[in-house]
Amino acid sequence: MQADQILVQLNEQQREAVTSSGSNVIVVAGAGSGKTRVLVHRIAWLIAVEQIPPQNIFAVTFTNKAAKEMSSRVSEILGYESKGMWIGTFHGIAHRFLRLHWSDAGLDQNFQILDADDQLRQIKKIIKESSFDESRYPPKEITWFINSQKDLGLRPDKSKGKKGFEHYLGLYAAYEKLCRQNNLVDFGELLLRFYETLKNNEPLLEHYQNRFENILVDEFQDTNEIQYQIIKLITGSEGRAFIVGDDDQSIYRWRGANPDSMPRFRNDFLEPRSIKLEQNYRSTKNILNAANSIISNNNGRLEKNLWTDEESGPLIKLHQNFDEYEEASNIIETIESKSGKLKLSDIAILYRSNAQSRVIEEALIRRAIPYRVYGGFRFFDRAEVKDALAYLRLTQNVADDIAFERACSVPPKGIGAQTMNKIKNYARDEGLCLYAASDQLIQSKTLANRATKSLVAFLETLNETKNLVSNQTLEKQFEIVIEQSKLIPYLKEKKTEQSATKIDNILELINAAHGFRQPFEDDDLSPMQSFLAHAALESGENQASEWQESVQLMTMHSAKGLEFPLVFIAGMEDGLFPHTRSQLDPGGLEEERRLCYVAVTRSMRELYISYSSQRMLHGSMISSQPSRFLYEIPNELIDDLSTEGLKPMPKRQRANGGDGLLGKLVEHSSFGEGVVIAVEGDGDNKRVQVNFQSAGLKWLVLGYANLKIM
Ligand code: ATP
Ligand code: MG
Repeated sequence: MQADQILVQLNEQQREAVTSSGSNVIVVAGAGSGKTRVLVHRIAWLIAVEQIPPQNIFAVTFTNKAAKEMSSRVSEILGYESKGMWIGTFHGIAHRFLRLHWSDAGLDQNFQILDADDQLRQIKKIIKESSFDESRYPPKEITWFINSQKDLGLRPDKSKGKKGFEHYLGLYAAYEKLCRQNNLVDFGELLLRFYETLKNNEPLLEHYQNRFENILVDEFQDTNEIQYQIIKLITGSEGRAFIVGDDDQSIYRWRGANPDSMPRFRNDFLEPRSIKLEQNYRSTKNILNAANSIISNNNGRLEKNLWTDEESGPLIKLHQNFDEYEEASNIIETIESKSGKLKLSDIAILYRSNAQSRVIEEALIRRAIPYRVYGGFRFFDRAEVKDALAYLRLTQNVADDIAFERACSVPPKGIGAQTMNKIKNYARDEGLCLYAASDQLIQSKTLANRATKSLVAFLETLNETKNLVSNQTLEKQFEIVIEQSKLIPYLKEKKTEQSATKIDNILELINAAHGFRQPFEDDDLSPMQSFLAHAALESGENQASEWQESVQLMTMHSAKGLEFPLVFIAGMEDGLFPHTRSQLDPGGLEEERRLCYVAVTRSMRELYISYSSQRMLHGSMISSQPSRFLYEIPNELIDDLSTEGLKPMPKRQRANGGDGLLGKLVEHSSFGEGVVIAVEGDGDNKRVQVNFQSAGLKWLVLGYANLKIM
């Protein structure tokens, strides 16, 4: 492998970075300027030209997929597979280290990893055992506190506990003890333990500092404190750190990413050479200009001048839709019109929230277009959706054993694995379904008292639910079953980062019922049977396999680092994007704007942005406004396909409300209580924006909202 072969496809600044012989390098540059490419070529350069053994290279990136891609691209350039590098995510590498050095790390050899749900369960246990009151010690907040302390590198004896949080420290210490006794390691612990083991073990540290002469980090803007310290420690005074990142793409501050990592690097690392990349090779002028214009609304950015040699390219297509169904069918129509011109895998559909994928997936399935949901399960395959479906299936058929078993275990209802085994054995011996077997075991009082009691309660609920749903509309049936299942209170109580998404997904089922149109060939089925058949068919089979040509569906967060010739951004509506939760704090809004910058810059050539005038959210029709980010794209870059065109940004009435609604406390049947913070439009179009105590900000059409003024 010749040096010139590694450099030939790079520009001057990129070559400067790749061949840099000094110690530390930091490349700060905008999207699509070749940061990842530089990092990959740098690794090839180190191995092929500087003759660094691969095992002396430590390279971290943000996702497993990116790590895989990185090592395969290195092999491609080198022309052979180079083994022995440590290349992966921070968590992956820390895990590898701890498996090798478990004894030095003070762990048992077979330590177990705690995922977020398990962690919360352990913390609840501790709160209960310490006989603390959960209302004063909310488990989710304590979990957050512990994780953020670990992300900062602080053990209970070191962490001071912000004012008002002192009493959490005792619980942190108790949690640590429990993990130690049970040989458990949570995600934050992987990193902290990795760091401490190296830091406190001189010979080990020396070994790794000598070994890893070269440390490379992609997406550096999203590292948190402990990750930063790990890089600093391994680099030591002799190592060379090669860092690439873009402050404008920092989108994980909500998970502890430290916005100052990049300026800090310049101070903490020995004479780092700073290199800027300014040419974007990914996108057309129109796309780049739109992205630059959006991000220019943020404050305190590192100065960057990103340009492209590409042609202007097509304008950005803007599509207004009546609702999310029309939005999905417009997207599909566009995809079909590209047939023969683009491969399906050149097309990505991006959205802000997971639950948005359902309507789009259905439209793709209807037209038999293969797709893959990237970085997540397809809607009907998601665990929480399957849980809810199990309860729905049982209303149709109590002899559905798979559904029965699933519903027995979530939410937990005192029917443990042992009891379940007895039921299963009995069912098998007697040739019964699980429901009938349970019924007989109850009658014969063969089970332990507590188990019998739980089982009686469960069967009663099933029968009651069955009665309640008879003669109801499909939607209403869904509402009843979900309520009876108690899945939502169960998830609410778990309060993990994922619970909110899971709840959204379950509620999205009600929307699905609302929009469900029974096909003619299902004439002899009830609407519920028809819906369930359709859900079952959609799950499992339809997801394209990894190698099959397919449209790529993903959230904007998981699109980081990727690129596609054609990108759709769906649901460009205020409240959805920027997300309601971000709108009350200015830092949150800037983070959403960076996310918008990430989304727009995924497109190489064509970009379709769509928004709907109304959308079902949590079973209610929400009237929506175009996202404020749309108004940050210069008009001349947009080809507005809708008949009306993008209306001027609505002026929101905040100072004095018509009809005296402004500032009133109101109650909504599903969102609960909230305060009216804006009123606009009149007649049939009159809308109000309400800040609900638990559901956040929502726009509602006054005529349909049925608000009770308190
Ligand atoms: P992001 O900020 O989105 O992570 P990035 O800065 O990492 O982007 P890359 O993904 O490395 O950018 O590069 C963007 C695209 O430009 C890729 O398709 C890459 O192959 C191409 N590219 C980068 N540098 C050059 C170059 N010198 N000549 C031709 N193409 C290039
Ligand atoms: Mg990149």
